[in-house]
Amino acid sequence: MKKNLVVGAGFSGAAIANLIAENLNEEVVVIDKKDHVAGNSYDYRDKNGIMIHKYGSHIFHTNSEKVWAFLKKFTDFNTYMHEVVGIIDGIEAQIPFNFNTLYQVFPETMAKRMEEKLLRAFEYNTKVPILEFQKQDDEDLKFLANYVYEKIFLNYTTKQWGVSPKEVDGAVTARVPVYLSKDNRYFQDKYQGIPRKGYTKVVERMLDHKNIKVKLNTEFKGVECFDRVFFTGSIDEFFNYKYGMLPYRSVNFKFEEYDREFYQSHACINYPNNYDFTRIHEYKHYLQDKSDKTVIAKEYSEFFELGKNERYYPIASKENAELYAKYLKEAEELDNVYFLGRLGDYKYYNMDAAIERAINLFEEIR
Ligand code: UDP
Repeated sequence: MKKNLVVGAGFSGAAIANLIAENLNEEVVVIDKKDHVAGNSYDYRDKNGIMIHKYGSHIFHTNSEKVWAFLKKFTDFNTYMHEVVGIIDGIEAQIPFNFNTLYQVFPETMAKRMEEKLLRAFEYNTKVPILEFQKQDDEDLKFLANYVYEKIFLNYTTKQWGVSPKEVDGAVTARVPVYLSKDNRYFQDKYQGIPRKGYTKVVERMLDHKNIKVKLNTEFKGVECFDRVFFTGSIDEFFNYKYGMLPYRSVNFKFEEYDREFYQSHACINYPNNYDFTRIHEYKHYLQDKSDKTVIAKEYSEFFELGKNERYYPIASKENAELYAKYLKEAEELDNVYFLGRLGDYKYYNMDAAIERAINLFEEIR
């Protein structure tokens, strides 16, 4: 029987482990240096019965039938559709900026005038990245674009990435485009929701297989003794940082408990222009947990430092892409060692993209 090692028990590692154990009937050892599975999607019920996302809000959404069908084997989802508001000049305003936001932040006559101009300039229901949206000739629309840039993107992005929106990769801010629509949802995917029993349970179920052995609190020591190795840690770590460290952004959550039913109107409220945190998460909204207490987390962004905090976000830049390419070249020369996941591929994957990558890799090797 072939023996596989999977390094990392997050979604990517658990998915590839499950696919191999189930379809190839091979042995899989899954190791993780943390004391729990599920990586950064780890959640748990606290003493109040509230499901806490330890490493920040995770909202599952996908258009992929393949990914949805795979996940449905391990969980049901509720029908939660994520909506985000941002505090803009003291007003709770819909994010992404859409036609409803226009009426929330501007006087009605002004909003109407801009709405008419927008409908002439753009197709209804299209999404326009902010840096694209700023290319306007009309004075009203130029004013609007600068308003959205300054009030929603400039300070949030500076807090989150340490640089202005013009200096981060365009794909990052394009995740939250200006949306010429009345759709208030953060995601438009066909399938979205929160696993009814939480993300940790989903991963536990993926790993609950007679051919899979999970070892927590276990460091990766080497590829010897295994026929194949799947590495979901950071690719530079695998190679002992021989070309230098791939940079990441990290986040730090400050948890607070309140003796009242709700703290805020939405699961996630962004604070682009105020305070040092980027957003506040209130967890009980996700699974409609009942408690007369509530728990929130304020999210502070910082650089990743080895040994101090966790890797969360690969930083897309030309320099980092070149550094990653050096590691990738080394990786391609290895037989039977595969890299995947946000850290293994150094890509800002959403959960569904991480799972899709694991499924596709499995199809390649089977
Ligand atoms: N962003 C912003 N203001 C907001 C929300 C998002 O400037 O109110 C920008 C910011 O640069 C952020 C990016 O859009 O990093 C992507 O946001 P998203 O909510 O997708 O980030 P995630 O939830 O993955 O942290």
